[in-house]
Amino acid sequence: MLHRNNSKPKKFENIAGQAVHDLAGLQLLSNNVQKSAIQKNHRGTTKMGDTESEGMANKYSVPKKGLPADLSYQLIHNELTLDGNPHLNLASFVNTFTTNQARKLIDENLTKNLADNDEYPQLIELTQRCISMLAQLWHADPDEEPIGCATTGSSEAIMLGGLAMKKRWEHRMKDAGKDISKPNIIMSSACQVALEKFTRYFEVECRLIPVSHKSHHMLDPESLWDYVDENTIGCFVILGTTYTGHLENVEKVSDVLSKIEAEHPDWSNIDIPIHADGASGGFIIPFGFEKEHMKAYGLERWGFNHPRVVSMNTSGHKFGLTTPGLGWVLWSRRVLVGQ
Ligand SMILES: *Cc1c(COP(=O)(O)O)cnc(C)c1O
Repeated sequence: MLHRNNSKPKKFENIAGQAVHDLAGLQLLSNNVQKSAIQKNHRGTTKMGDTESEGMANKYSVPKKGLPADLSYQLIHNELTLDGNPHLNLASFVNTFTTNQARKLIDENLTKNLADNDEYPQLIELTQRCISMLAQLWHADPDEEPIGCATTGSSEAIMLGGLAMKKRWEHRMKDAGKDISKPNIIMSSACQVALEKFTRYFEVECRLIPVSHKSHHMLDPESLWDYVDENTIGCFVILGTTYTGHLENVEKVSDVLSKIEAEHPDWSNIDIPIHADGASGGFIIPFGFEKEHMKAYGLERWGFNHPRVVSMNTSGHKFGLTTPGLGWVLWSRRVLVGQ
């Protein structure tokens, strides 16, 4: 246990106080019960070695004594039963059914460290096969060396897609000797929350185009005139908006971007890229739509057939029939992530 003289506890409390503040700031602790437990602990009412930390009452400090495995299991099991029932959670379209075969495979491979690529190359090989299948499904050109990776879902995939667009924009602007301090990205207000989070995490101004009844609750391509400028790193186009499932129109968005670019030949961000968010649609559209549907929805040049679509993501756990969390992001050309 810690040996502390009289001056140390105070210091320790300060650090802890700061930690509580930081955690609250990050919204990691949304539960007031948790917060008060930690605060109580660090206000000194519960000190190290007190009966509370020795037993189970204090759940937020390392206990003095361990628990038998059976009891540990039962306690955690009981707590987790308080969660919602995944079968009743229709909110995030996530697949809740798992086959016995999938469970068996998961069980057999549970102890592999995903990050240790050298030791588990076959896992990487299987990932590569998935990327290859998606590259074909999304009409990538093999000569352009499409590239991609598995993620925990579309949220992570969108971070990577957005980040690659930001980096490319920075390079272009730097090469032209221009300011790179104010990047922005365009998306409709029907976006999923992960898209807005990207802008926060990676310090890109979020330019939300409000949707309306007139725009069928999707990105209105004509509005782009008011939102796009030289600091626009790209545009998120959603194929299956979270609220209504509508497909935003890649062709129309691209047409307007071309017109805007034509009016500003001095801009350095020519060919403003599109990242297509196919979290929901990426697995549905290629299987469910006939040619005339594709045309009606502005998808006649599907996926990477459209030169402006540089990257695209999908969630395996929405319609790819896998369990959470699995997703992918692909880029149409290796050079798009080479910087
Ligand atoms: C669900 C969803 C996401 C986030 O996907 P996750 O796989 O849950 O991380 C992003 N964009 C859209 C349009 C979605 O529907």
